[in-house]
Amino acid sequence: MKKIWSIASALSGNIVRTRGSSAGSAVYLTFDDGPHPEHTAGLLDLLAKFDAKGSFFMVGKTVAKAPDLVRRMLAEGHAIGNHSMTHPKMRGLPGSVQRAEIDQADAVLERIDGQRRHMYRPPNGAVTWPMMGTSLWRRQPLVLWTIDSLDYKLPADQVIDRLTKVTPPAPGDVILFHDDGVCAGLALAALLPVWKQAGLTFAAVSS
Ligand SMILES: [Zn+2]
Repeated sequence: MKKIWSIASALSGNIVRTRGSSAGSAVYLTFDDGPHPEHTAGLLDLLAKFDAKGSFFMVGKTVAKAPDLVRRMLAEGHAIGNHSMTHPKMRGLPGSVQRAEIDQADAVLERIDGQRRHMYRPPNGAVTWPMMGTSLWRRQPLVLWTIDSLDYKLPADQVIDRLTKVTPPAPGDVILFHDDGVCAGLALAALLPVWKQAGLTFAAVSS
């Protein structure tokens, strides 16, 4: 029993990812809930200015409305991931519905990049047993985060303050932002020059 448990936790350790390697200088900027017709393009401009790569976990129904933004992300070296088809509250939904949410978003992304499966970030970070089972079976990574910017509920100046003084990132950290609002772009315009000056680099999460 102990052996089975250790095998299961070794497997899930590879599948559920919260941080990257702390050996180098890279932190991982991740953006959920896009692509957004206004905010995402500006954010891509900002990332390009600082030679920063990010990872975009996108909602399938939104991707379907802005495929060119996703093509731009890929062309500029960013990573793309699955954030479900409609962003439901996964807990309490039948396993078959949870899997359908993942499958439909994978299919929308496949039409753009030709890949059948994509790394997955569950809406609200809510990891469920059916989702864990599916991810392990498919070897489809679940990507979470180590630092939540709180950009969905704080104004940009407080996000900047928090990411400077309360939870400043170190190599390996995965930071959660959202590109369906203005806050992430405002905060990162102030933070990226400071972080770059401090020696950090910005890499895409690899699947
Ligand atoms: Zn989300």
